[in-house]
This record gives sequence, C-alpha cells and structure tokens, in this order.
Amino acid sequence: MYFKIIDFSKFSSIKVGIPIEVLMIERDDTIPKDRVIIGHANNLLISDTPPPLMMLSKEFSFIELEDTILTVGCATPTGKLLSFAKKNDLAGFEFISKLPGSMGGMIAMNAGVKSYEIFNIVESIKIDGIWRAKDEIEHGYRFANLNGIATELRFRIERGFSSKLLQELISLRSNQPKIASAGSTFKNPKDDFAGRLIQEVGLKGFSRGAMQWSDIHANFLVNRGGGTFKEAKYLIDLAKEKVLDKFGIELELEIEIL
Ligand SMILES: Cc1cc2nc3c(=O)[nH]c(=O)nc-3n(C[C@H](O)[C@H](O)[C@H](O)COP(=O)(O)OP(=O)(O)OC[C@H]3O[C@@H](n4cnc5c(N)ncnc54)[C@H](O)[C@@H]3O)c2cc1C
Repeated sequence: MYFKIIDFSKFSSIKVGIPIEVLMIERDDTIPKDRVIIGHANNLLISDTPPPLMMLSKEFSFIELEDTILTVGCATPTGKLLSFAKKNDLAGFEFISKLPGSMGGMIAMNAGVKSYEIFNIVESIKIDGIWRAKDEIEHGYRFANLNGIATELRFRIERGFSSKLLQELISLRSNQPKIASAGSTFKNPKDDFAGRLIQEVGLKGFSRGAMQWSDIHANFLVNRGGGTFKEAKYLIDLAKEKVLDKFGIELELEIEIL
C-alpha cells in the first residue's frame, strides 16, 4: 500500500474538494478497518474534513473471461467493462454505459438505470477476501449492504450485446446536465421524483456561489466552476428543508457526503 495525494476538485465528478492523502490498496495488502473506501468519486461530495480515505489501486482493474465466467476487479472503470462487453458480444451490460465510476462503487450503490441494476446481473461478490453469492447481500434501490470492501465481481455471461438497447439507454440521458455533478443528489421518494419536488419548492436553477440546482434537471447539483463544499451543502440543506416544509417528505441523499 502507498499514499497518493488526490485533489478532489479535479478528481471527483462534481469537482468539489481539496487535495487529500488517500491510501492506495494493492492486491496482497490487508485492508485496514479504520478508513473509508472510495471508488472513482462519481457519487461523492467530499467535505473539507473527510475521514481517512482509501482506494483500490490499478491492480484491481482487470477483466478475465473464462468459459462462461467473467471476473472483474473492483477498480475497473465501468467504461472499460462496457467496451469489453461490446467487443466480446456479452449481453446485460448495456445499462452501465452512462454510469461513470468503478465497479466497486457500482456494486456498493447498486447503481442502475430504470429497471436495470447491477445486482440483476452479478452472481457473486468478493468481500473482504470471501466470495459471497449476491442473495446473501441485502440490497435494494441504490443501496447494498456489503459490510466490507468489494474487490472482485463475478458474472455468468450470455452472448448478445444489444446496440439497440445501448442507444435507447443513451438517449434517456439527453435531459441531464453536461457540466460537473455527482448525478442525482437525492433518491426518488416512493411514487415521486426528487427533481419534481425541488422544482415545486422553487429551487430549479437556484444557485449559491458556483453551485446550482441545475436548470435542466433539478435533482442535479451542478458546479459551474470553482464551487465549494460549503455552497453545495447549503443548497442540499435548503432543498431538504423546503421539501419537508411543503410536502412533509424527507429527501434522502443518494450522493454520499464524506
Ligand atoms: C453524470 C452522472 C450521472 C449518473 N447517473 C447515475 C444513474 O443513472 N444511476 C446510478 O445509479 N448512478 C448514477 N450516477 C452515480 C455514479 O455513477 C454511481 O453511483 C457509481 O456507481 C459510483 O461509482 P464510483 O466508483 O465513482 O463510487 P464512489 O462515488 O467513489 O463511491 C460510492 C460509494 O461506493 C462505496 N465504494 C466504492 N468502492 C467500493 C468498494 N470497492 N467496496 C465497497 N464499497 C465501495 C463508497 O464507500 C461510497 O459509499 C451518476 C453520476 C454522474 C456523475
């Protein structure tokens, strides 16, 4: 293991944060218990006082296909797996096309689009060195109770990559802002949409400093350049407060604040 300084104002997808020393985990290391694991910071908002952080090194970025079993390291970027699936005509991976991040972040968030989510296709997950069948892991809409560090995922593959489905899923994304964000900020409450609620309380397009509730999709907190954690947190708290006051609904964060 070794330390690396990561500047989260450049590394994170929302471009908020400061340079922080992150412990990089290599393949034969014993994973420490006193640090928070991060993936590629596409679902994170890093505060100015985060807990000690760690990340899987590039040694965990690999894809191995043997007969019908596909094994993928958890530092593998989703884009790399998508390209592999396309090239090798593997079915079921089309939906990861617009989900930026690592496979570790994906499994921890049970990331997905519409009815497609990673737990639908994964077979087993190596957590803290032990392979576990997916049914052993409590999971649901945008969460999975891994209770440890995922280092590898296993899939049983079927042939038939669908370029048509890929195009359909890509076009679903046309209503999303193109500038820096961490994706959807809040989970959709049951039978409703967080974006609709934020819009209804008048915050669509509302900004504080360089951070803004996007005027394209109100559940996206976007950074128009140089936004700070303080500004982001102010807007998050404001949206929660206004939605609670007006609708009695407690918005739950989808992004994670560290
Ligand atoms: C523009 C944009 C659009 C997005 N659209 C969607 C979408 O439609 N659907 C969706 O689901 N997500 C979406 N996201 C969010 C993001 O793509 C996913 O949550 C992604 O899986 C995060 O991966 P990451 O590697 O960046 O994880 P991080 O953001 O770094 O971490 C996310 C969580 O995973 C945990 N984690 C990371 N690695 C591991 C590991 N190895 N073991 C255990 N826990 C781990 C972290 O502790 C943290 O709790 C979007 C993000 C952006 C920027």
